[in-house]
Amino acid sequence: MPHFPRRTLLQSSAALATLAAAQTAQASTASAPVIALRLLETSDLHTFDENYDYFRDAPDNTVGLTKAATLIHAARAQAQNTLLFDNGDTIQGNPLADYMAQPGNLAPGHLHPTIRAMNTLNYDAATIGNHEFNYGLDFCVKALAGANFPFCSANILNADGTPWLPPTLILERHFTAQDGSIHPLKIGVIGFVPPQIMEWDKAHLTGRLTTIDIVDAAQRHIPALRPQVDLLVALSHSGISTAPRRGFDENASYYLAQIPGIDVIFTGHSHRVFPGPDYAGHDGIDATLGTLNGIPATMPGFWGSDLGIIDLTLTQQNGKWAVTGFSCATQPICARAGRTITPLAANDPAVDSAVARDHQKTLAWIREPIGHLSQPLNSYGALIGTESSLALVNAAQTWYATPLLGPTSLPILSAAAPFKEGYQSPDNYIDLTAGTIAIKDVADLYMYPNTVAALRVNGHQLQNWLEKSAEIFNRIDPENPSPQPLLNPYVPSYVFDVISGITYQIDITRPPRFSGHGKFHPYTHRITNLRHQGVPITPEQEFIVITNNYRADSGGIVHNPAAVVLRAPDQTRDVIIRYILAKKTLTIATPPVWSFAPIGAPVTVTFRSSPAAARYLLQNPNITSLGDTGDGYTQFALTLT
Ligand code: MN
Ligand code: MG
Repeated sequence: MPHFPRRTLLQSSAALATLAAAQTAQASTASAPVIALRLLETSDLHTFDENYDYFRDAPDNTVGLTKAATLIHAARAQAQNTLLFDNGDTIQGNPLADYMAQPGNLAPGHLHPTIRAMNTLNYDAATIGNHEFNYGLDFCVKALAGANFPFCSANILNADGTPWLPPTLILERHFTAQDGSIHPLKIGVIGFVPPQIMEWDKAHLTGRLTTIDIVDAAQRHIPALRPQVDLLVALSHSGISTAPRRGFDENASYYLAQIPGIDVIFTGHSHRVFPGPDYAGHDGIDATLGTLNGIPATMPGFWGSDLGIIDLTLTQQNGKWAVTGFSCATQPICARAGRTITPLAANDPAVDSAVARDHQKTLAWIREPIGHLSQPLNSYGALIGTESSLALVNAAQTWYATPLLGPTSLPILSAAAPFKEGYQSPDNYIDLTAGTIAIKDVADLYMYPNTVAALRVNGHQLQNWLEKSAEIFNRIDPENPSPQPLLNPYVPSYVFDVISGITYQIDITRPPRFSGHGKFHPYTHRITNLRHQGVPITPEQEFIVITNNYRADSGGIVHNPAAVVLRAPDQTRDVIIRYILAKKTLTIATPPVWSFAPIGAPVTVTFRSSPAAARYLLQNPNITSLGDTGDGYTQFALTLT
């Protein structure tokens, strides 16, 4: 049996086709040939090329394609036949991405660092994630243009209904069977994105693209693709949910797995790990084996945290290849024991050198001082009404949007929610000391690439907006003498909009008007003493509220596109940078916008925060520390009266 290195195979495909056909014929006279094929998946890399946390300006061994790349090389070395796919959300997600999106930085001929890093890995194919559009369609096209691998998407269309990208791909590869025979195979690839991109990036995409339902797109293309290929791989930048299908579902991978003809589904978007316990206990999902309706699937975490690996056994039966065995796994780049992180992979030198220049430029950019803080600024009190970082966001939004709104007699308010409230780590809070403020601090203050928007609302809608925010609090029993947990762990902090320009109190002894998935108690309310300039607000009174594009376009608050009175082109983060540059020195002495409504008798509520919060929170005589929670946080008690 002659030995053919892979490169030779790729270069002389005509000669090989003949050889392979001969070998196939020879092999089929004996037992059926069996191919072991290893499929590898990255997803939701979000520009985490390096193992670096740009907000903390320090290395972070829980992230980085540079680590996953080493796992990819190792996984390839162990297998005779491999294919590598990326599942989208590649060009947005950290300050490196923001730096590249600054005008001029992605100059002609200069490839996006993530694409340059991916090019060193020779991906076979990729699809588009929802975040690819956050900097606009033109930037997306420019950033992805230098990839040495093809993209496909079956449910993103041009506005006129024609394909924007190839909906499907057919990869032609030669694989070596276990008996040494070589076989040409055709691998079909089809890609999907949450159709919600048209809401989430409405300002960038309206009139240019359109989307269709993921399952509908699969049904449109798979019947034609399937007969042409030996194996069909779905790249589904969509999560896994067994909730009843309603159409235009964001997380449709489970329903995709019911479409006949798909052999393998790579999932993503939810930033979770599959197979894994997050998805246990659902009919049709095997969270241990890694199957959706029996179809092998993976989801490899986020920011390069894990590599998805699906090993297939392909057996030739009656001239056709069939999947006769599989195993699914994810491989992490680090091990965690409490707060201790142990890297399980070295950095990949080729990835490091591909991104070195832009990584260094990003470090210089984020460290540039842009102004001065005259007092510390943190988010430790964001959920108890005493914090100042949201006041800065609201002040900057108001400063920026007021001239854009033009002359108006309506009061201009501003809404902002705390993003960094200890999610996944006790370090995940805003904690800026007095002194110089740099771009990395602003990236920390406002971690999403949202843009500024404004809505016209009446007093009734304003009250409901705040009622929705207040669902973050548990209902507190004023008769209960024991400490009670303050926060509902199922409500993320980013729903908790604090609206400046008005004052109000939140009565947490009442049930929330809104809770969870639309269930609500219409006859109750938690927001009391809602006032503008000290005067109670009437249901008919009108206001303009400055907010972000997600609140404005995704509904949930006002449900009326006509209420959107401003869709500004600028990112909130850039607006904060411009505000600081204009003010030079920031003194945030704004009085609190809201407080808890008086309860009457003393009641103790508990909440967790960072150990670093103690030096600020314990200045409040009503707050005491209850000590460690055992997982890195500190438990605090607040006495309300
Ligand atoms: Mn993502
Ligand atoms: Mg996504």
